[in-house]
Amino acid sequence: MSSHAPHVIRSVRRRPIPRRIATLSVHTSPLHQPGTGDAGGMNVYIVELSKRLAALGIEVEIFTRATSSDLPPVVEIEPGVLVRHVTAGPFEGLAKEDLPSQLCAFTTGVLRVEAMHEPGYYDLVHSHYWLSGQVGWLAKERWGVPLVHSMHTLAKVKNAALAHGDRPEPAARVIGETQVVEAAERLVANTQEEAGQLISLYGADPARVAVVNPGVNLDLFSPGDKRAARRRLGLPEDAEVLLFVGRIQPLKAPDVLLHAAARLLADEPGLRTRLVVAVVGGPSGSGLEEPEHLQHLARTLQIEDVVRFHKPVPQGDLVDWYRAASITVVPSYNESFGLVAIEAQACGTPVVAAAVGGLRTAVRDGLSGVLVDGHDPDDYARVLGWLVRDTEARARYGAAAVEHARQFGWSVTAANMLDVYAGATAELLEGSQLVVGQ
Ligand code: UDP
Repeated sequence: MSSHAPHVIRSVRRRPIPRRIATLSVHTSPLHQPGTGDAGGMNVYIVELSKRLAALGIEVEIFTRATSSDLPPVVEIEPGVLVRHVTAGPFEGLAKEDLPSQLCAFTTGVLRVEAMHEPGYYDLVHSHYWLSGQVGWLAKERWGVPLVHSMHTLAKVKNAALAHGDRPEPAARVIGETQVVEAAERLVANTQEEAGQLISLYGADPARVAVVNPGVNLDLFSPGDKRAARRRLGLPEDAEVLLFVGRIQPLKAPDVLLHAAARLLADEPGLRTRLVVAVVGGPSGSGLEEPEHLQHLARTLQIEDVVRFHKPVPQGDLVDWYRAASITVVPSYNESFGLVAIEAQACGTPVVAAAVGGLRTAVRDGLSGVLVDGHDPDDYARVLGWLVRDTEARARYGAAAVEHARQFGWSVTAANMLDVYAGATAELLEGSQLVVGQ
């Protein structure tokens, strides 16, 4: 168990339910299109959670780094949810790896915004990803408010299961994460497994770790007319569609799906005229698996005639892809949750996923989908082949998938998060050594 130094803070407000939250998302904006670059599940998470909190009467202000000179300082996503653009470093051409050098500038920008308001403007800081956690640490000390932190991914976990050719996360990130674990009143883990990792790998105090499952927009992602969806997407009505959705990077292993499809076709050549492998997403990270690289792989495997690449689309359009799919495939080396898996299931599509991380929670193995151990394409080909042939099993899995996904609405996430905020506030009050404003 870690030992926490008493907090020396300037003032304390006793408001168990925050009225206004400063949400920190340094490296990626909630206004960016998810599914490419640094934008993915975390962006969706922040937007959806903020909207649900706003619906409960809590104002959320999301601070993110400005990546273009023509961005307005403030954008309202909807009443009660603001995005604040903070200038920190050059607008473009700054990689995520270079952002630690801009944390001081970013923090200054955040503190300036708060200083323009009356004292006690924010009741709580919720930071996302370790870079934001570093900023949140300072802001919390300065403002005398609790810090709630969501890691989203952990360097130690990622490094333990690297995809072939992927770069390990640097030691500086591990140090930064460990500091945030020490500083935060509450750490939000997506799953029990992540909670365990925070405790065993990072020395987090178990009393400060809370599990809150992410969610899915159940109003948007729902079962629908498969044929109509296929027509809209220009897919044959009788096709067997294997769908990959997400950022194209080694961690997500879209190459495993391509290899599995090639094996499937080698085993069942008759499938060739009907099989479609759809890859929806854009390049991200090291770029090792940019679409061009995958296109090259498809040619090498002689399956370029069945693979279709599509640029990232807004979630409103993604619904058609999930509905059109026979099976959604998530062969990632690691996922802290895997929103794509839960969105697909909410649309009634079974998921074949790697048995890693949050996917073990997001998919009910043998009920709403199948979890595959490891990343051997032959194993994926076997499961996919079975589900392609057995349409009854597929329908059964699809129906169970809808049921399974139903428990993951964002409103549940927001309600659980409120409990975490209340716990964080209580924790701060208990451990505080008041020096001003008592
Ligand atoms: N996404 C999207 N459009 C796309 C591809 C992905 O909106 O073209 C969204 C998708 O709906 C999901 C998120 O990006 O909510 C990806 O989240 P996930 O947890 O699966 O992966 P992450 O990006 O966090 O690693």
